[in-house]
Amino acid sequence: MNPRDLDQHAADAPIFDPAAFRLAPHEAALIDKARAFGLRVLMPRAARHDRDATFPIETFRDMHGEGLLGICVPKAEGGAGASFRTYCLAAAELGRYCGATALSWNMHVCSTLWTGALADDLDMSAAERAEHAARRSLHYRRIVADGAVYSQPFSEGGAAAAGAAAFGTEAKPVDGGFVVNGKKIFASLSGAADYYGVLCTERAEGDVASRRNTLYLALPANTQGVSVVGDWDPLGMRGTVSRTLLFKDVFVAEDEMLMPRGVYFRAATSWPHMFLTLSPTYMGLAQAAYDFTVAYLRGELPGTPPVKRRMFPTKQIAVAEMRITLEQTKALWFQAVSEARADPTSEQVLRAYAAQFTVMENANALAAKAIRTCGGQAMLKNLSLERIYRDSRCGSLMLPWTAEICLDRLGRESLYAPGETDA
Ligand SMILES: Cc1cc2nc3c(=O)[nH]c(=O)nc-3n(C[C@H](O)[C@H](O)[C@H](O)COP(=O)(O)OP(=O)(O)OC[C@H]3O[C@@H](n4cnc5c(N)ncnc54)[C@H](O)[C@@H]3O)c2cc1C
Repeated sequence: MNPRDLDQHAADAPIFDPAAFRLAPHEAALIDKARAFGLRVLMPRAARHDRDATFPIETFRDMHGEGLLGICVPKAEGGAGASFRTYCLAAAELGRYCGATALSWNMHVCSTLWTGALADDLDMSAAERAEHAARRSLHYRRIVADGAVYSQPFSEGGAAAAGAAAFGTEAKPVDGGFVVNGKKIFASLSGAADYYGVLCTERAEGDVASRRNTLYLALPANTQGVSVVGDWDPLGMRGTVSRTLLFKDVFVAEDEMLMPRGVYFRAATSWPHMFLTLSPTYMGLAQAAYDFTVAYLRGELPGTPPVKRRMFPTKQIAVAEMRITLEQTKALWFQAVSEARADPTSEQVLRAYAAQFTVMENANALAAKAIRTCGGQAMLKNLSLERIYRDSRCGSLMLPWTAEICLDRLGRESLYAPGETDA
């Protein structure tokens, strides 16, 4: 085997080979930085945060030093200016080494991606654009200069997180800002983030709640009236520490608006791929399950005796099937993240649902098959596979694009044109 072949079989080779997937050099460099960071920093810390269900705040401080907190902050504002796709590919590399950290990082990065490259694509009046430019600079400065960490609590336990109703968390307009009241469940980074990027409904006395009036506010975590309640002892993604946030008469200054009025609703309707951002973590976990299996069967997994199990035909068939599933998942997902843009065609939206469903379900299917194929010693808690299995099970549950909702929409929107009925 020549050295080049060896490179290609290395357990930690890029998930998406830059040459094969025709990545631009600046894109490949950022993704490589994430891969190196994942291997060096995330991997050794993952088991401890999973076991203790603690948030890896020290990793986020290290991310600041590496420029990873500002990966999607525009270059003109001191960030790395990553596009939607570049971010997704970088996040997959982190997910490979620690699903929980990658998922939490996603919540932080979305506050910059949605207000950055994505917002630049949206229709805004000149006044809205100017307002947005001034306000987002404030958030970007905090992140780039001070290492501020943002989170993204939108789930409330009702229909709002699926996009079917207005958020129950409400912001009442008052002099100089808003007074926010409400509750968010499953708020990753609760107690750790410096700012909670809260989605809520702006509602003055007597107004009817409407999704069109969704506000996206950065709520400083130490503001009076903000509390973190409940415990966090879930099956997987334990290091996200997604506890419940309560807001009781919290005053938020107008400058903390992450988007101008009405713009979040515009983003959600015209840039639907914004909700695909939960999938990169699980793309990484799918790769991790495969990598683990190959290394284990070759007798090369660090921390295990050098026992080879690859000579059994059943193992070879299982790995072949895993490889096929992985390649199918990668191909569909790469296409979907590459074509994300404003006002996508209905075909592109359907493909995005299919990609989300495929990644979320296949990550766990690969992990389950890895356990069956590698055997009992491989699922002991001193190895990463059982964590990959538990973490990967959580992907299908992530609103607004759960596996069920993707199926629902794929079926309905493939059979009915917009507005079409059987009546
Ligand atoms: C590890 C982890 C981290 C998370 N982090 C965050 C976070 O940082 N911020 C955040 O906001 N949320 C976060 N979530 C929350 C997540 O997006 C869901 O809101 C959460 O799992 C609660 O869902 P539920 O089961 O209560 O949803 P329910 O509303 O009870 O729905 C149950 C299921 O019913 C289906 N369903 C729901 N509504 C519809 C509909 N309108 N049409 C068809 N089917 C529907 C869906 O498949 C859904 O999975 C996180 C979740 C997990 C597991």
